[in-house]
Amino acid sequence: RSLAELDEAVTHCRACPRLVGWREEAARVKRRAFLDWDYWARPIPGFGPEDAALVLVGLAPAAHGGNRTGRIFTGDPSGDLLYATLYGLGLASRPESVRRGDGLELYGVRITDPVRCAPPENKPTVPERDTCRPWLVRELGFLRPTARAVVALGGFAWQALLPVLSAAGYTVPRPRPAFGHGARVTLPAADGGPPLELFGCYHVSPRNTFTGRLTTDMLTDLLGTAARTAGL
Ligand code: SF4
Repeated sequence: RSLAELDEAVTHCRACPRLVGWREEAARVKRRAFLDWDYWARPIPGFGPEDAALVLVGLAPAAHGGNRTGRIFTGDPSGDLLYATLYGLGLASRPESVRRGDGLELYGVRITDPVRCAPPENKPTVPERDTCRPWLVRELGFLRPTARAVVALGGFAWQALLPVLSAAGYTVPRPRPAFGHGARVTLPAADGGPPLELFGCYHVSPRNTFTGRLTTDMLTDLLGTAARTAGL
């Protein structure tokens, strides 16, 4: 299988009944501002090239964001900030991501989530997170030859990523490293291949940006450091 085939395969997954119900319910009810949208209402695959050097990992799509537009981090304020920042760093072809198939390109960066379906209140359960884990393990397996840095956007991503990185062939220290903005850990490859640098970054959600916990400068600094570390 190729990564493109994996991306296609995940869009057909229905393994979590609660999330399948939620993503489809959102598409039926819609939000008033999006009544003319034909919602995607399926799992959201990762976005970005197959030979990415930098991988950004979030939480899960938003019911009226990615679940509507069909692209990760697209259609909500979190994504607006993330793509604009990537564009400012020269890592995206445009500052806005509008919807799946709009022609936007990422340069050397792939964005993905540990949970691919929109959960109620943006809170997947632990069993849902664990059910979705194999998709991310396989995705990181495809990216392994080129990936040199990964950024966990928020504590959920950090906790979800550590077992995934272990399953994907990296040595995760014990005790497990703690999440924080600016946390940084080198993960050696168990087979002697190139190591992966793991970064922690506050999630780009309005809860963090409106309160000033995460500023645009902080995000730009952290993603810029991660991109340089990855050789971009
Ligand atoms: Fe499948 Fe993941 Fe969606 Fe669950 S969250 S239905 S495992 S794609």
